[in-house]
Amino acid sequence: MPNFKSIDNVDGSGKRVVIRLDLNVPIENGKVTDATRIERVVPTLRELLDKKAAVIVLAHFDRPKGKVVPEMSLKPVAPALQSGLGRPVKFIFTDWQSAPTVSAKPGECMLMENTRYHAGEEKNDAGFAKTLASLGDIFVNDAFSAAHRAHSSTEGIAHLIPAYAGRAMEAELRALEQALEKPKRPLIAVVGGAKVSSKLELLGNLSGLANTIVIGGGMANTFLAAQGYPVGKSLCEHDLLPIAKEIIATAKSKGCTLLLPTDVVVAKEFKANSPSRNIKIADVAADDMILDAGTDTVTRINAAFDAAKTIVWNGPLGAFEHTPFDKATVACARHVAKLTKSGRLASIAGGGDTVSALNHAGVAGDFTYISTAGGAFLEWLEGKPLPGVKALERT
Ligand code: AMP
Repeated sequence: MPNFKSIDNVDGSGKRVVIRLDLNVPIENGKVTDATRIERVVPTLRELLDKKAAVIVLAHFDRPKGKVVPEMSLKPVAPALQSGLGRPVKFIFTDWQSAPTVSAKPGECMLMENTRYHAGEEKNDAGFAKTLASLGDIFVNDAFSAAHRAHSSTEGIAHLIPAYAGRAMEAELRALEQALEKPKRPLIAVVGGAKVSSKLELLGNLSGLANTIVIGGGMANTFLAAQGYPVGKSLCEHDLLPIAKEIIATAKSKGCTLLLPTDVVVAKEFKANSPSRNIKIADVAADDMILDAGTDTVTRINAAFDAAKTIVWNGPLGAFEHTPFDKATVACARHVAKLTKSGRLASIAGGGDTVSALNHAGVAGDFTYISTAGGAFLEWLEGKPLPGVKALERT
């Protein structure tokens, strides 16, 4: 856990606060269609404005690759930020070629144009970081989801003026600490999703930390094949069988139990409502596709959850977008939600499709913490230091 300073330490009065937010929100026809990311940062903004700081918001939008691309302007985000905040937000266009003049008064909030309009942003260019730092007296980072990238507005700037973690960043860091650094044990990691290849580092790191790893989704097929079970036409990375065997051996040597399916739901076609059967893993036929964990497996997973104190969840247990292959994900997620609500465990989930899978199960609100930061959450699970977080450390 980085030893960062929170905004408790900020005396805002008369100060210009440059704050980095993640405002990369979905926009259709010039309107923000999902304001979740905005809602998460409103408490920090309100707190700073209440402290009579002049708040200057930095954010990126999409990937304009160092050029002014009008379709990637942050302008349409200003009204959504304003209505979320319930206070005026002034949008300031700049192409960032020279330091813009910003005259924000105490208690005023300004949203600056897309930082990625400048080619230096993604290169963590020192000159551009200086331009950004010149806009404020102090820097607050409330964009955990952008913290895995060392950019001028996430990393470089934090070395130039005093840097603090905003409330959303703080909540994320505390949740992740609870999950992986000081977890109450037993700690169970649920790793699902499509492919082993995208989760190799994550599995490597978690096998040294978790007491049990539940492996589900398409990636479980590669593990089953590595153990000599038939997987038919299922999604399976046959070239990764040696790696899967290595992961099984490493987990064993580290005392981490891998919980793999013992029964599965198969169909002949990968589409919704395709006729399906719940069968033992040894009985998968050559033209079968494994699309979900079976009912016995769900019972075993939920029994493991009953004994757990902490659960970290990344990735669905099956092809949850297509009924009935959502059953294992829904049943296990609901069980975690129930145990969390009764105070028996802490549950932290995030990354990739996890949030939509938990929303689908109707339990996202019942987990202890849901991270909406895809890449940064995964890199944290992989055990990698996040440059934007490291730069907030007290020296
Ligand atoms: P990821 O982005 O790696 O978390 O993978 C999520 C995707 O994996 C979802 O779109 C699921 O539909 C897919 N998935 C999960 N289980 C299976 C499976 N058994 N076969 C094919 N796709 C799957």
